[in-house]
Order: sequence, then structure tokens, then C-alpha cells
Amino acid sequence: MQTELVTIHEEEPEKEWIQKAANLIREGQLVALPTETVYGLGANALDPEACKKIFQVKGRPQDNPLIVHISNLNMVEKLVEEWTDQSALCAEKFWPGPLTLVLNKNNLVPDVVSGGLRTVALRMPKHPVALQVIQEAGVPIAAPSANLSGKPSPTKGTHVWRDLKGKIPLILDAGPSSVGLESTVLDLTGKTPTILRPGGVTKEELEKVLGTVEIDSLRKGQAPKSPGMKYRHYAPQGKLTLLLGEQEKVIAKIQEEIELAHAKEKRIGVLCSKESAFYLQEKSPDFLFILGDKDNLEEVAGNLYEGLRLCDDQSVEIILAEGMDEGEMGLAIMNRLEKASEHRIIHL
Ligand code: AMP
Ligand code: MG
Repeated sequence: MQTELVTIHEEEPEKEWIQKAANLIREGQLVALPTETVYGLGANALDPEACKKIFQVKGRPQDNPLIVHISNLNMVEKLVEEWTDQSALCAEKFWPGPLTLVLNKNNLVPDVVSGGLRTVALRMPKHPVALQVIQEAGVPIAAPSANLSGKPSPTKGTHVWRDLKGKIPLILDAGPSSVGLESTVLDLTGKTPTILRPGGVTKEELEKVLGTVEIDSLRKGQAPKSPGMKYRHYAPQGKLTLLLGEQEKVIAKIQEEIELAHAKEKRIGVLCSKESAFYLQEKSPDFLFILGDKDNLEEVAGNLYEGLRLCDDQSVEIILAEGMDEGEMGLAIMNRLEKASEHRIIHL
């Protein structure tokens, strides 16, 4: 299949490309779209055959459900069993934006979308291109991240091109995603709102609106409520180890590891803060990527996937990543880094 990669303006998207994307969606085809979190691979959420293609193209496990994206609240009715006061409150405060709500689903939602669960995950994205394509198509759009399963999520049109060229007809490229990490997935079907996946809206922000918010315990060895959380994810090809602890100790350990790797003639990459980079540059790792300022976790979030993907381009065999504080956006960053490390974590 011929894949068209077109540049589209974020603020004033060209009508012609919006219409082309919307037509493809209505015809049951797939389109890669920019959103503020990461790029999504969209299909008509009410068309099971179209949604099946998403799983084929990505190599995504069947039991990993898709997030359904809407452009206005009228679309909610056909998708959920009940639009509760709590959902309405979340929508009012956080939509459009990087928050996904898990609710009991309406029977109109195909099983392939919900991975056989009785719930459905909904989000209204903020990106004008995503919103306009959904609006123009007139149907909700199911869209997981537009990467091959297991690869870091795409935050640029070129990342999608790398993974999916030849497999889908159209990629709309509106430049880098502003958040750069996936949405927060919040389960509203239980007694207490529960974060199934940390993301672009923080626990602190949610608690200001909802009161107590729990985090689904992913570390206690129980089956996660969000099926996607159990899969190897976000991982570059090289072996990534996450280093936690005092900054001086982390720097010293990375310096030591760079020397060891060079002695063994192994290519080594480092993902670190701006502050630590100064001390690590002098050891000349094969690849050094600055995630951002330790105090600006939005910046770190925005750069993380680009850094992981560049590790692949640089063919580094060993990757060392400096941990960040877990507050606010740090929770989502550390969740992705822990998964990318497949839990190879050193506490210093
Ligand atoms: P992706 O769109 O690739 O970022 O992945 C979507 C995430 O949302 C995955 O972790 C899914 O498991 C999760 N998800 C989607 N639908 C549901 C649902 N009904 N219940 C729980 N988690 C869901
Ligand atoms: Mg994904």
C-alpha cells in the first residue's frame, strides 16, 4: 500500500486533508493522526472490521482494548451505558485533554474495541487536527498509539512513517505532540476513581476535582485492570537500565558504566537530565540524549519517546537512564521508563 505523509497546520488545519482523512475513516480505512499526547492510529470505532485492521497493522494483542476518541459530548450517548455526574465533572474540567475515562459500555461498542471487556475508554483530544477529523467523519474514532506494538509511542509524524509506511494510506503530520506521553487512563466504574495508567493529567490535578484518587497497583503482581499495562512497552532495542537515587551517585555510576562499556567495545547510550549531562559528556558515551531540566518534567515527558527512538537509530546496546522525581508528571515518566527497562532498576 502507498502511504501518503502530509504536513498539516496544527492551528488552522487544511480542510482538504481533514476531509481526505475523514473520508478514509468513513470508508473503513486507517489514518494516523496527531493528538496532543502521541500520534494515534484511527479507525471508525463503530466499524468492527475497520478496528480489526488496527490490531493487524500494529501487531497489537487482541485483549488490549482501544481508546475511543470523540469531538463533542453528543457522541457519548451511543458509547456508554450511563454518563454519570462524575464523568460529566471530569469532562468539564479536563476535556478536551489528555484524560481517558473508563466507563460501562453501551452495546453499540464493538467487542473488538473493548477487548471483550464490559467497559469502554473515552477521550476528547485537544489537538485541532484530531478534533476536526472526528467531527468531519461524524463518527467516534478508536485510536491507539500509531506505533508497532512494543515500540515507543510516536510523538512525530516521522516516527509513524518509520513504523507504519506501506501499511496505512495516510499520515497527517502536524509536528511534535505537545504532551509527548499517553493520556491518563482513569477508571470511573468502581467506588473510588482509579488511575489505571498515569499520563498527561496528574493524580494531583485529578484529586483537586474528584477528592481521593487511587492508583491501580501494578507492582503487586496482580493482573492490571488496564490490559495494555501488562505488555512490554515503550522499549528500545538496546537493554535499558534505570538508575535511581542521589544525583551524584547516579552520575558516578553512569560514568563508571560508560568506561566499562568502552572497555568491552559495546555501544552505550545515556538518557539524562540537563544538569547531569554536563558531567557525563566528558566520558564520551556513544550517544547522549538530554531529556530536559530535572525541574521541568513537562519538558522531559515531551522528549522521552524521541530519546528512546534515537537509541535505536544509534544502535546502542546498553542504555542508562537517569530517574526523575515521581511527583506530578514524574509518575507517568517513571512508569514508562520502568517499563522500557523491563524493571532493570538500580537503586543507589
Ligand atoms: P494506547 O491507546 O496504545 O495508548 O493504549 C490504550 C490503553 O488504554 C491501554 O493500556 C489499554 O489497556 C487501556 N484501555 C483501553 N480501554 C480500556 C478499558 N475498557 N478498560 C481498561 N483499560 C483500557
Ligand atoms: Mg500504545
